[in-house]
Amino acid sequence: MGEDPERASLSAEAMPETPRRTSMLLRLLEEQSPAARVLRARPPVDRPVEEAVRFPFLAIVGQTEMKLALVLALINPAIGGVLLMGARGTGKTTAVRGLLDLLPPVERSLCPYGCEPEAAYTLGFHAVCKDCARKLGQGEPITAPDRMRLIELPLNARLEDVIGGIDEQAAVEGKVRIRRGLLAQADQNVLYVDEVNLLDPEIANAILDAAALGRYTVRRGPLAATYRARLILIASMNPEEGALRPQIHDRFGLRVVVRGLSDPQDRLEVYRRVRLFRSNPYALVAQWASETAAAAAEIMEARQRLPRVTIPPELEQEAIGWIHRLGIESSRAEVALLEAARAYAAADGREVVTLEDLQAVAPMALRQRRSAFIAAFIAQQEKEDREILDIIYNRHRRSNRRRKAG
Ligand SMILES: [Zn+2]
Repeated sequence: MGEDPERASLSAEAMPETPRRTSMLLRLLEEQSPAARVLRARPPVDRPVEEAVRFPFLAIVGQTEMKLALVLALINPAIGGVLLMGARGTGKTTAVRGLLDLLPPVERSLCPYGCEPEAAYTLGFHAVCKDCARKLGQGEPITAPDRMRLIELPLNARLEDVIGGIDEQAAVEGKVRIRRGLLAQADQNVLYVDEVNLLDPEIANAILDAAALGRYTVRRGPLAATYRARLILIASMNPEEGALRPQIHDRFGLRVVVRGLSDPQDRLEVYRRVRLFRSNPYALVAQWASETAAAAAEIMEARQRLPRVTIPPELEQEAIGWIHRLGIESSRAEVALLEAARAYAAADGREVVTLEDLQAVAPMALRQRRSAFIAAFIAQQEKEDREILDIIYNRHRRSNRRRKAG
């Protein structure tokens, strides 16, 4: 593997003539590995595909915007999740499952109550349980690094599976207790919701609210419990199978339209890789192992760099100007745009956002945010407000002048 000439040239070209691409991550995402790579592999042997072996994320041909959006969401959860829109067979689910090999480690509480050191440091020791207060007092850690996980929402999930409900096991023993739902398990993890447009609206709202707030409360009769749910939400949908309400579109930080590949060579390359994966998944995984490890390390470094990444004030103004000119009402637009640009700069190994960073992420952050209904609603309301003001201040004449001006 180390003798691979292709790989040698890959690291050589990374050095001088790519001033903006100081990191390998963005380049790896855009890389179109030549077909020779697959053809060189040992002849395929027919055997069943093992679920545990995943199609490598980086071996997905093309679909750069989808791969970029998913990686930016891992680097900066403040972007607010990703919605993938596209027909079946465009690799949406394959890409999301491929993220498993790129997930960064997170600091997870060791306490059954989920106590965290930040709570004790900012609010005082009463904000953590007695056990954790003692440990912190003695300088012992109450968190430990753990792998981020990918949790998939089952298609038939019920509301109580998602948010939690009465613990039936405890109820048999005569105790009343609340059982954690899937959202609590998704804390500091990635939650993948396939076919989000077919989801029961009540469940969709519960997930979107929890993802936005980072926590949620479940109430069952006299019982109530609040759980952390700082999750990275990734959803996919096939527009052929039903539209998504416009207000749900807006609740995702980035929206990616996943199209089939147009280049015949790319399509052939997909066929070759899928064929190899079906016959010998390990061969394909092995081919991409070093790039995958490099990308995972770069994502981890980008996450550590992110808190130091700043946006010059004039670029913030520029970004707000775009949103104003596009007539986007929702303030989620600037959050997604600016946070995605910070993640992009971090992915490129820099600490100051440039205009190019904003331009690279703007289509994903700004598309499908406008609502014809809201625009018409606001125009109608402004007209009515003018009439009300004209009447209550008795200024019919002055309103004529304003109408001319406006
Ligand atoms: Zn505790």
